[in-house]
Amino acid sequence: MELVTLRDLLPRAKREHYAVGAFNFNGYEDAVGIQMGAEQAAAPVILMASQGACQYIGLYETVGIVKGIAKHSKVPVCLHLDHATDYDFIKEAIKAGFSSVMVDASAREYETNIRESKAIADFARNYNCSVEAELGKVGGKEDNIVVEDRTAAFTVPSDVPRYVEETGIDALAVAFGSVHGFYKSEPKLDFDRLDAILKLTDCPIVLHGGTGIPIADIQKCIDMGLAKVNVGTELKAAFSGTLRKLCAELPAGEFDPRKFLKPVKGAVAAIVKEKLEAFGAAGKA
Ligand SMILES: [Zn+2]
Repeated sequence: MELVTLRDLLPRAKREHYAVGAFNFNGYEDAVGIQMGAEQAAAPVILMASQGACQYIGLYETVGIVKGIAKHSKVPVCLHLDHATDYDFIKEAIKAGFSSVMVDASAREYETNIRESKAIADFARNYNCSVEAELGKVGGKEDNIVVEDRTAAFTVPSDVPRYVEETGIDALAVAFGSVHGFYKSEPKLDFDRLDAILKLTDCPIVLHGGTGIPIADIQKCIDMGLAKVNVGTELKAAFSGTLRKLCAELPAGEFDPRKFLKPVKGAVAAIVKEKLEAFGAAGKA
């Protein structure tokens, strides 16, 4: 199968009241694990690489791995660039074969955010690549983008319609109480704000910082019309936790990398399958 875009996945999810899961990967094993989990759930899936992950894996290597995975996949696979702030890099990723990108101009003021996100959306249109942008600031740490929890600004609902209209984006990340990384205290989502946003736009809405939000709260957002949920930190923890356990358990003479890394795929797949079932996406491939 060819890679699909957010346009292929999110409008249907919104209509049928489920959310598509988007999962961060940092190498071959977790990328394969994500697709395995999606196939077990018979759900479409978004594989996300941050700018940092692309630099670590290599941009063309990242595309190569995921195109290879998609080729024999029984479920639709989208390759999405997560939270990119370097516009030259975004264009390079689009040309390299990403089927979706996120332009993060959320640190800019409103008019600048519109202008810069629109420029990426205009560019992507020539490549059958979808674009997600962000309005408001999701708190926490995402690679090199750090937002102070206390200054994190929630999305203003009335800002949304003009933003979506003028940028021409395919999905919008909004801030209403979720943060990136593990939560220091119980997250409190502003459901009324999300509801107001959903009533004002048809654009598919994205929840960032899916790790650690009680599943019932995520399901409430999905019932309201949320269409994409991002999960990153939980997979990183499963990857390193599995590896740590195997290093302690495998005999000292074991040196085959596959003995260490194959269980990582399974651990990642198990989390992905569980999430996709919880998001109502199982069987929607
Ligand atoms: Zn994010």
